[in-house]
Amino acid sequence: MTRPFIPFALPEIGSEEIDAVTRAMRSGWVTTGPKTKEFEEKFRSFLGAEDLESIAVNSATAGLHLALEALGIGPQDQVIVPTLTFTATAEVVRYLGADPVFVDIDPDTLNIDVQGIRRAITPHTKAIMPVHYGGLACDMEAILEIAAEFDLRVIEDAAHALPCTRNGRMIGTWNSDATVFSFYANKTITTGEGGMVVTKNRHTADRMRIMRLHGMNRDAFDRFTSKKPGWHYQIVAPGYKYNLTDIAAAIGIEQLKKLPRFLARRQALADTYLRELRDLPLKLPYKPESSDTHAWHLFVIRLQPGIRLSRDQTIEELAALGIGTSVHYIPLHRHPYWRDRYSLVPERFPAAEQAYQSIISLPLYTAMTDADQQYVIESLRNLCRRA
Ligand SMILES: *Cc1c(COP(=O)(O)O)cnc(C)c1O
Repeated sequence: MTRPFIPFALPEIGSEEIDAVTRAMRSGWVTTGPKTKEFEEKFRSFLGAEDLESIAVNSATAGLHLALEALGIGPQDQVIVPTLTFTATAEVVRYLGADPVFVDIDPDTLNIDVQGIRRAITPHTKAIMPVHYGGLACDMEAILEIAAEFDLRVIEDAAHALPCTRNGRMIGTWNSDATVFSFYANKTITTGEGGMVVTKNRHTADRMRIMRLHGMNRDAFDRFTSKKPGWHYQIVAPGYKYNLTDIAAAIGIEQLKKLPRFLARRQALADTYLRELRDLPLKLPYKPESSDTHAWHLFVIRLQPGIRLSRDQTIEELAALGIGTSVHYIPLHRHPYWRDRYSLVPERFPAAEQAYQSIISLPLYTAMTDADQQYVIESLRNLCRRA
């Protein structure tokens, strides 16, 4: 009997989501409307801060773009980003004609290096975009302190960080200017495609709501449900088309209900990996010391120097055994566009370079069975024994 392939990630969609989509489609309102409002409200209350505004969007990329736009980032401005991230973090900076400035990572946490942020600041620096890599919170105290010292905006790329805490405080509720979550298919909850921006700043939120839908000062649902004749609106800026549909929001509402269970499962799987891979020549992911929550979006191992197995070989051997893995990420400074446009050389990013040579993201998803995980662990054990 051949084993079914174990993917690196898999969304968990149940009959609740399917029924919710059916209801949304039968309701007569499929685009942004009551379900989107409900999802925004429930997301906000999940994060648990009274003074938060939440804005649903059709991707985290859209949310990051809206946040930078609302905060006035434009040509000649520089925005600090880590090199070990997905290209979306940096590309939105280019959408606005500004320039990302790439910073190395901390070799232990794989999050952006805080001293590197300080060294990257110039008179053109306007913002910092930390990424909570894999679901481990960045050093928010230090980042917000630097931001205050140099009058910089902070936009958190929290695509991996639902839910995630640092020193007991939930990511999304810190005093940054905006925090952006992703509901892409492999994230901790999914709406197929989607995202959510949260901010404590009313003005930022209002601007993002307007720019989310063509720069209109009233959205379609608002006009449709208004008691007064609903046809009138004004265009106040050349906005975007970044709204989330009610079909997607209906999925999100159901996924959010399941998030506590999803998190518990991810934590249990991560704990098993941490315990059972401990004696192998692998560097295991950094775990917060305290009672803080790691979202465990990713479980990233690193092959230790000296092991006679390359990263690529390991990935190939695991694939041959029916185990899917991935690499998060090819650092941005290695991609032709970023490398050539900003003359980036690997020597500037020693920690990201070293991590890149050895990182592998192991399968981690809520529907993964204990037997699936034991098979992954056994396979890794055998590979390491032979190496
Ligand atoms: C997934 C991801 C994004 C983009 O999210 P989308 O919802 O697909 O736009 C941005 N940044 C990071 C770090 C991600 O992992």
